[in-house]
Amino acid sequence: MPGTSPGSTGAGRYAPSPTGELHLGNLRTAVLAWLFARSTDRRYLLRIEDLDATRVRLGQAEQQQADLAALGLDFDGEPVVQSRRGAAYTEALATLANQTYPCFCTRREIAEAASAPNGTIGRYPGTCRELTPAEQAVRARQRSPALRLRADGAHQTIRDVRYGKVTGQVDDIVVQRNDGVAAYNLAVVVDDAASGIDQVVRGDDLLPAAINQAYLATVLGASPPLYGHVSLAVNGAGVRLAKRDGAVTLADLALRGVSAIDVLGLIADSLGLPAVDHVAELLPQFDPQRLPDHPWVIT
Ligand code: GLU
Repeated sequence: MPGTSPGSTGAGRYAPSPTGELHLGNLRTAVLAWLFARSTDRRYLLRIEDLDATRVRLGQAEQQQADLAALGLDFDGEPVVQSRRGAAYTEALATLANQTYPCFCTRREIAEAASAPNGTIGRYPGTCRELTPAEQAVRARQRSPALRLRADGAHQTIRDVRYGKVTGQVDDIVVQRNDGVAAYNLAVVVDDAASGIDQVVRGDDLLPAAINQAYLATVLGASPPLYGHVSLAVNGAGVRLAKRDGAVTLADLALRGVSAIDVLGLIADSLGLPAVDHVAELLPQFDPQRLPDHPWVIT
């Protein structure tokens, strides 16, 4: 990979949310992240993104690790568990104190304002950006606020192995949720920096988030990583693969006589690589520049 020397001390990672079993698309992303890391002599770390307690399912973190191991993916060190990292997030929020503002908007208010004639869907419409302290005090009686980063319309450029240089406008992202827990974007950036992660390989649905995360990294004094946003797996209708799409987890497939090594073969095939007995055998042939640029269709 460009910009990487053998023996690099950097790291890549896989960061699943333990909300359910990993499906073929998730497993393929994990294999790709492993290939990107190991082919560039990076460490490969696992992070359990369990901050959304309402969605976490008991036992899934362990099941996900078992499934990743069944594919032959090895990780360096112990997993980083986000629900145990509150102190690091609090510290980061303290350093951002002068660059955040309280936001009292509900999801619905944001959706309505963003779909108004001057709004932009997917971007925070700025409703709470210029509230006076008196207005904030009134609003705070009805609802506890989230904290948003004041990005001032800044632009950020990221480097991505597949997309090249991508520039976009930074959104006023939430850095602390209104229940007081660190927001996803803050946790990702703080954890990547703390773990020395300099290569982030994940699904390309997160490409827009990378603009915001890279900006937040620079605000926190960290170097943004090199990204590799890889194509997702989709069902026959072209919609992002989900568990309801049928036999898409290792457990489902095992019931049909498809082993973990068979699944590795399917993933390799989807990447234009031959079937192998162990994931490490894919390394000599892995070329990040020759990844398919279309989604993996699972029917
Ligand atoms: N936890 C996120 C997910 O499972 C991935 C976040 C990331 O890779 O930055 O979709």
